[in-house]
Amino acid sequence: MSGRPTGDDPARTLIDLKEVSKRYEGGDTAGTAGGAGRAVLGDLSLQVRPGEALAVLGPSGSGKSTLLNLMAGLDRPTAGSVTVDGLRVDTMSETAAARYRRSRIGMVFQFFHLLDDLTALDNVLLPARLAGAPRAEAADRAARLLDRLGVARHAAAHPGRLSGGERQRVAVARALMNRPPLLLADEPTGALDSASAADVRALLRELNADGQTIVLVTHDLSLAEACATRTIELVDGRIVHDAPTAVAR
Ligand code: ADP
Ligand code: MG
Repeated sequence: MSGRPTGDDPARTLIDLKEVSKRYEGGDTAGTAGGAGRAVLGDLSLQVRPGEALAVLGPSGSGKSTLLNLMAGLDRPTAGSVTVDGLRVDTMSETAAARYRRSRIGMVFQFFHLLDDLTALDNVLLPARLAGAPRAEAADRAARLLDRLGVARHAAAHPGRLSGGERQRVAVARALMNRPPLLLADEPTGALDSASAADVRALLRELNADGQTIVLVTHDLSLAEACATRTIELVDGRIVHDAPTAVAR
């Protein structure tokens, strides 16, 4: 008996990956006779508790985005299980996965993925519209999020007119619109100049300090050091390092 509080208590586990493998058919199998594709993730187990800010570090091609996409239900493992917020993400239907993404997770990407035909405000409102939220309430929350993220004055602007840092702030507001228990970010500072990147780093740290659970994929060690409470490192689809991070608060 180990006496320590474990990540096995379901009430204390937001993300639970059990022995997850991911292979792509017909991948690079050089040197492996008769291999069924290359293992992008190999037998990976990982638990994340509410309130953690987990940074996933690792070189390009190590499987970081694949891991995030499995958590988001955008991709499925070849073996193993993915449970988030009590839901089996790896076995749900496409419809259920879409609903899951809408209600339980917010996603932020390197290139923002904002819709340029919509204003910043309408981009932020979109997830609420898709979820059928009451309009007045949603408009109120969207305005408050833009304000909190420091881009309220750009509410009526189209993303193309905003700086990279401002666009990423709008993207974060959109990701938070439906109050997701989990925020997933894939290289969120990868396309930003250093001042904007510092800005987004501070923002992620602040959100986590307010209790937001975050999984942050990056190959930028300084980003991990600035906002993560825990860091794992992937090499060739395996966790080679897993340790708490001392966040400067
Ligand atoms: P990272 O985000 O760490 O750079 P990825 O998770 O994007 O790594 O990719 C890990 C590996 O999986 C890479 O070698 C990549 O080429 C491969 N890969 C990713 N997606 C696919 C796909 N749809 N088909 C085949 N191989 C893929
Ligand atoms: Mg990636």
